[in-house]
Amino acid sequence: MPTVIVATGNPGKLKEMQAFLQDLDWQLRLKPDGLEIEETGTSFLANARLKATEVAKALGEWAIADDSGLEVDALGGAPGIYSARYADSDANRIARLLQELDGQANRGAQFVCALALANPQGQIILETQGICRGEILKAPRGEGGFGYDPVFYVPHLGQTFAELSPRQKDIHSHRGIAFQQVLPQLKTLRLAAP
Ligand code: IMP
Repeated sequence: MPTVIVATGNPGKLKEMQAFLQDLDWQLRLKPDGLEIEETGTSFLANARLKATEVAKALGEWAIADDSGLEVDALGGAPGIYSARYADSDANRIARLLQELDGQANRGAQFVCALALANPQGQIILETQGICRGEILKAPRGEGGFGYDPVFYVPHLGQTFAELSPRQKDIHSHRGIAFQQVLPQLKTLRLAAP
């Protein structure tokens, strides 16, 4: 069974990635705590590539990485690739976002997720990007998920990401869309040992 390192330190993202990859005969391992990759890319895709490549090369194993975040229309796409660095906790990130949008009628936003898989030599074998459109509410709703989920409302579902069941979020989210795009290819890949 091939070992694949999940190049994230975010437990919320790891849980979701494990659910998407459960049908593959991969043994998933979390990247070691001490191995920090600086996200110096200027796009989600560049950062996903960087994390997958650097983790794969450092450990000599296959590595899968995602880089994701929230782009808000009225803020010119911010916080974007800086979504994790927008404030020091999920509650503070949401508070800052709601404050920046105070009095703003345009609440349009999208979650973006870029995915990249690197072989043990650090070469990118496969990559994709998934997008989910929604609106930023004026106050949080729901207890599930993580990050900005309680303020991200999806009109055609009538719920925020934090109100969806984990299974529903997996189907509709930016990460779910990205994984659904590459799963058929991932299933046919024969991951050779390093
Ligand atoms: P990354 O670890 O650099 O990809 O940071 C992504 C950041 O974007 C996370 O820390 C969250 O704040 C936010 N984010 C990404 N995906 C989601 C999601 O599915 N729900 C809520 N927030 C998310």
